[in-house]
Amino acid sequence: MPAAALSPEVLAKYEPVIGLEVHVQLLTASKAFCGCANRFGSAPNTNICPVCLGLPGALPVLNAKAVEFATMASLALNCEVRERSIFARKNYFYPDLPKGYQISQYDKPLAEHGWIEVPTADGGTKRIGITRLHMEEDAGKSLHDGFSDSATRTYLDLNRCGTPLVEIVSEPDIRTPDEAFEYLTRLKEILLYTGISDCNMEEGSLRCDANVSVRPRGQEKFGTKAEVKNVNSFKFIRAALEYEIERQVEVIESGGRVLQETRLWNSNEGRTYSMRSKEQAHDYRYFPEPDLPPLIVSPEFLEQMRKRLPEMPEPRRARMIAEYDLSTQDAHTLTAAREFADRFEAVAKTARNPRRVANVLLSEVGGRLKALGLDQEQSPVSMAGIVLAADLLDESKISSKQMKQLFDVCFEKGEDFPAVYEREKPQQITDSGAIEKLIDEVIAANPRQVEQYRAGKKTLAGFFVGQVMRATKGQANPALLNELVVKKLEG
Ligand code: ADP
Ligand code: ZN
Ligand code: MG
Repeated sequence: MPAAALSPEVLAKYEPVIGLEVHVQLLTASKAFCGCANRFGSAPNTNICPVCLGLPGALPVLNAKAVEFATMASLALNCEVRERSIFARKNYFYPDLPKGYQISQYDKPLAEHGWIEVPTADGGTKRIGITRLHMEEDAGKSLHDGFSDSATRTYLDLNRCGTPLVEIVSEPDIRTPDEAFEYLTRLKEILLYTGISDCNMEEGSLRCDANVSVRPRGQEKFGTKAEVKNVNSFKFIRAALEYEIERQVEVIESGGRVLQETRLWNSNEGRTYSMRSKEQAHDYRYFPEPDLPPLIVSPEFLEQMRKRLPEMPEPRRARMIAEYDLSTQDAHTLTAAREFADRFEAVAKTARNPRRVANVLLSEVGGRLKALGLDQEQSPVSMAGIVLAADLLDESKISSKQMKQLFDVCFEKGEDFPAVYEREKPQQITDSGAIEKLIDEVIAANPRQVEQYRAGKKTLAGFFVGQVMRATKGQANPALLNELVVKKLEG
């Protein structure tokens, strides 16, 4: 059962405070400190070596690509990159961590003081601060399920040990579960644009821990937070936060005290469970990693990385709206993934009307793909086909009804639009006498609408156009029909 949305009574009295910690695996070919392949899905315990297993005497060497990616992410998130950052050992015992410590960064992280802008409910934007972005390595994986003796044994796959990560920690600036959802959506978009990670949550390349507390409205001091782990989709993070906020308010309202603890989200039950009381930083006995020198990021290197960044989603959206006259909604959909936006832009300039191209791409083709559960890559219709359809519409060479029929054929037969168009060459009625006759009939049959139109409801022209289109099975020349309908109604 999913958690219910927050009740207004709760929100009137209490203010939630949320901060997110996001771990992102970097798309490097090899691991952070050794030459092992950084690959998901290999046979268990095949991508390992003395370094990532932490065998005595093995020494780490920092992967230059990981530094490049982490620096690009820092810049994309508006962070200040430290010229000299320090790796640190974070010591803890866990079966999936054979070294007994994780190489991370502590008081001198790679980058600090960044921000992401998120849209707010009232149509504005809000800046969510990013406290820090630091580099670290991943641990291995405990496999609790899927073996015949899983009831009594846990297996270990150490392939993930030493996978390069960045951890991105937000300021406690987020005030609602919806804002948390937006922050994560924007963050993922930005990281995908930089190309440093595939951000695949199912495969664990993006993971999020959510810190949340509540305080009485008007109180400045933060309440005690709980940290929710094990949440594997942005929707579940929103649900987990909603649940957790309600729970904490109930604890306080019934006279109790919220405990500082780590809680686990159970998506089947739609609730969180206490896992352990929260460990403190001093429990990890952080100390500078003796086997790695300080990481130096020169201004020249920083400049190189800045040049490698593509245009980011938000500015790109604004530019595309201005350049192609797109609706905000279409611009958002087109820019959600960089490759998709690239594909659109590659053809938009050649089209008569880019806004129409966006419309055909998203509504006609996108709608059909969605209904069939297919990706853009699996579409039978090429971008050239989409441009042709949009141009034909724009020139009134086909009606939108005919376009829909042609796309139906494309998807039925798995053929591209130009081929289907050439073969079917839809009939078009361009004889104005014939069209006028049909308009007269529709006008005679709908005196009430005629009266309303003449009283000023001009949008009703579309109704008459639709009626005639229907009578011609979509074959009337749209431009001519529009023109004649207006002429008749005005006349
Ligand atoms: P810890 O020492 O417990 O790891 P940090 O200060 O490092 O806590 O913060 C971890 C995350 O928790 C950050 O994203 C931060 O914004 C958030 N956070 C800190 N205090 C609170 C609070 N009282 N309520 C909600 N989130 C908080
Ligand atoms: Zn290795
Ligand atoms: Mg912390």
